[in-house]
Order: sequence, then C-alpha cells, then structure tokens
Amino acid sequence: MSDSQIVVVDLDVSAADAPAVAERVRQWLLDEQIIVDEAESDWRDVDRAGPGWRATTEPGVGGASPDGIGATVGPHVHLPAENIGSSARCPVCGALVDSGAWVELASPVFTEWIEGSGVDRVPCPSCGAGHRTHGWLWDDGEPWALGFLGLTFWNWPELSDDFLARLRHNLDGHETCVINVHL
Ligand SMILES: [Zn+2]
Repeated sequence: MSDSQIVVVDLDVSAADAPAVAERVRQWLLDEQIIVDEAESDWRDVDRAGPGWRATTEPGVGGASPDGIGATVGPHVHLPAENIGSSARCPVCGALVDSGAWVELASPVFTEWIEGSGVDRVPCPSCGAGHRTHGWLWDDGEPWALGFLGLTFWNWPELSDDFLARLRHNLDGHETCVINVHL
C-alpha cells in the first residue's frame, strides 16, 4: 500500500523561531484532540490522530481515522515525490521549464539554502525573474517549497479551508504552502 501525505509548509517562520512555533502548534492540536499525547510518541516523528480529527475536514467526511501528524523542524526541501508535474511555469513570463531542467536549476539553490549561505530564489531561465521555490506554478503537479517548519498529515483526508485558516492563525498568521504528496 502506498502512502499519501498533506504537507503544510510555514513559508515565513525563521529558523530560530521554528522549534517554539512547532511546540505551540502541537499543543493546540493536542488541545483540539486532533492528535493524542502518548508517552512514546515523538513530535518530530508522528503523533497519532485523535478523536477530534474530523474537525480538520469538511463536514460529513467519513471513513477510518487517518494515521497521524508529524513535524519537520529545520531547513528542509518539501517536495511532492510522485506528484511532481511535467513542467514548472514562471509566474511572471509564463515560460514552461521541463521538470528535469527545473530540478537541475533549483538544486544548487536548495543546497546553498540548506547550508544557510543562500536565499530561496530560483531564477527563470527565460525572463531572469527570481521566485521563491513555492512561487513556481505546476499545472499538472504539486508545488515544492522550502521552509523551516513543515507539518505532515499522514494518510489524511483533504483539509478544510476553515481548518487551514485556524492552523495559519496558530502559525502566527504566516503564509503556508500545501503540498499533496504521494510516496
Ligand atoms: Zn520568466
């Protein structure tokens, strides 16, 4: 059986603030019983879904309980795995960049950003405009994003707009990027 993930990347949190924000969001998810506190569970791994998980979806979504939620704290390239599109589109000039060429273009940017010596800016080979990784548009695939905090919902149904708004509120109102990942 294959796994799916919904990854919500905080696009604004700093490296320094990410651990505290992650702990605060975890406490909120516990308070809402969206996850359950188990002595053996580790937030940096996965916390099991709790009885309140339905509050994260549109009303009426049924089915079995999803698996759980984990957090990735620290610089990370969040990618869609099998849900990569065939090409990325520049949001300024509309040029299409084949996915293989785009990954080649972006890889050195990712490396420098992970090492802390670069900025999240992938330049368009056509018009030269630079965009943050999540700014590139994928018409037939999911976005990529760089961030210091990502929340991973394992085998979880689609998150409602209402829940995502409440989650953003608990992330200090930061912008987020939602990536539907298929492993
Ligand atoms: Zn362009």
